[in-house]
Amino acid sequence: MIPYGKQQIDSEDIQAVVEVLQSDWLTTGPKVDAFEKIFADFVGVKYAVAVSSGTAALHAAMFALGIGPGCEVIVPAMTFAATANCVVLQGGTPVFADVIPETLLLDPVSVASRLSSRTKAIIAVDYAGQACDYDTLEDTAKRHDITLVADACHSLGGRYKDKSVGTLASLNAFSFHPVKHITTGEGGMITTDDQKLAEKMRLFRNHGITTDHRQRDAQGSWFYEMVDLGYNYRITDFQCALGISQLKKLQEWIERRREIAHRYGKAFHDIPRVKPLTVQNESFHAYHLYVVRLDLDGKDMDRSAIFRKLREAGVGVNVHYIPVHLHPFYQNRFHTGLGLCPEAEEAYQQIISLPIYPTLTEKEQDHVIECLREILS
Ligand SMILES: *Cc1c(COP(=O)(O)O)cnc(C)c1O
Repeated sequence: MIPYGKQQIDSEDIQAVVEVLQSDWLTTGPKVDAFEKIFADFVGVKYAVAVSSGTAALHAAMFALGIGPGCEVIVPAMTFAATANCVVLQGGTPVFADVIPETLLLDPVSVASRLSSRTKAIIAVDYAGQACDYDTLEDTAKRHDITLVADACHSLGGRYKDKSVGTLASLNAFSFHPVKHITTGEGGMITTDDQKLAEKMRLFRNHGITTDHRQRDAQGSWFYEMVDLGYNYRITDFQCALGISQLKKLQEWIERRREIAHRYGKAFHDIPRVKPLTVQNESFHAYHLYVVRLDLDGKDMDRSAIFRKLREAGVGVNVHYIPVHLHPFYQNRFHTGLGLCPEAEEAYQQIISLPIYPTLTEKEQDHVIECLREILS
């Protein structure tokens, strides 16, 4: 089966991890600082805070902004559940906004319609790897004195109007799960230029405790204070060593992802039922996912039949995502349901994610294209 996404690990990566395993610090050691520094420099921000997952990154961002009971945070319906869950984990209320049908990116018009006196933040999701319309979203955030957060789990290495992803919002969250651009097994990062917010997130990842083990060790002191309630959201040193090693290859991998996307785009010119999402002129797409909408009007087959046929042919397609407001948890707890975000709901019936990852061969890609052509003809 050709998967929709896949990690790439080479001998350098393995060597980097082994070196840490043989060192004194398995966790909260020098590799965490080093990964944060390299990542912050790569993105072009002052601070990067490494945590144990992308979900932890989003949760830390909500904590740093003081999201709690009575607070509303606007999130897109078309995303992974964690984008909304991080609000609920802090006791806040996620308010679902709709997406633009051509790009499946957060629609600023829908966002404006969801604002209330309780709105504290907006989380924009760079769906599939393309940055949202940050100028418009930032303008809305400024006018209403709320904070813009980027869920950039899809868009590491992407750009918006010559600004790099990771610098586009006050807080920007990344994931290093194996299907994402670079991996640490599990892992995440938040980037920001705000020192206070960075400090809050560093506390949050370590139980709300003021110093970490290595700092106390260096000071020859046992004393610490827990000043807030936090979690163990720490990432290990061997994971960070892997992250450092992976980041070196990111640019090259994105170029390859873009080539694959370009090739799909060309092939689908003459498969009219396959409609790739639109790429905005001002954006440099990082292509975490390659998503198409299937135009099945008048075809005696639905998306799930096509999905099944592709899987049978060895093409590991996927669907990203079931709109979050349709999950039973949200329907039960927040009384969401069909009709709340019609564009996301309609897109959900038609979308399919095709294989895209740096080591996908042209032959494999041709197989994907030919299967689609055959099934849809
Ligand atoms: C992967 C992902 C997350 C969560 O990241 P984990 O590292 O799996 O916790 C959050 N939001 C989006 C959009 C993602 O794709």
